[in-house]
Amino acid sequence: MKFVLASNNKKKLGEMRAILSELGIEVITQSEAGVNVEVEETGESFEENALLKAEAVMRAANMPAIADDSGLSVDALGGRPGVYSARFGGESCRNDFERCQHLLRAMEGEIRREASFISVIVCAFPDGRRISARGECRGEILREFRGAGGFGYDPLFFVPEYGQTMAEMDAGLKNSISHRAKALRELKIKLENSDLKY
Ligand code: IMP
Repeated sequence: MKFVLASNNKKKLGEMRAILSELGIEVITQSEAGVNVEVEETGESFEENALLKAEAVMRAANMPAIADDSGLSVDALGGRPGVYSARFGGESCRNDFERCQHLLRAMEGEIRREASFISVIVCAFPDGRRISARGECRGEILREFRGAGGFGYDPLFFVPEYGQTMAEMDAGLKNSISHRAKALRELKIKLENSDLKY
């Protein structure tokens, strides 16, 4: 079986390929499937956005599609930035560094620092079936930047069990404990236990 990925992000493609190839599932890009769908993320939850993306690409390509939506949810901010993680701070924040600075300002004087990275993955099939999985990684928002790896909010996201921010971890460790890795592992189990024929 083949899935078309509803994203042009090479890192996501690599992670999905690695896990799903263990099930004999091939993941191809939109251009390999001959489609180019840009979906506006208008949903209010990660689930809604992942479903919007997977369904739009599944319809355009007329084959099973897989999409993910992810972001940072900070307890003291009532779950923000959540689905707005990539747009946090609006026009005034042009890149990951400025969005991190915006987060530090939003949490100034805040003692509660707990937060989660969340990832939701949805597979949509032309016969109407949907399979979804969710992964969470708990951590704490530091008061200063640490580490040069990763992307997004990684330099501020400290994982106590490992004593490191996600930007200090080597990529192999991050990719094995991350919200996306957990969602992918859950998805793999759900697909294995489904009656889908590969
Ligand atoms: P999307 O799922 O590609 O739309 O990503 C949403 C946003 O969430 C990204 O732009 C990042 O700001 C943030 N994000 C998601 N996953 C991670 C991660 O693993 N590390 C750091 N930031 C992340």
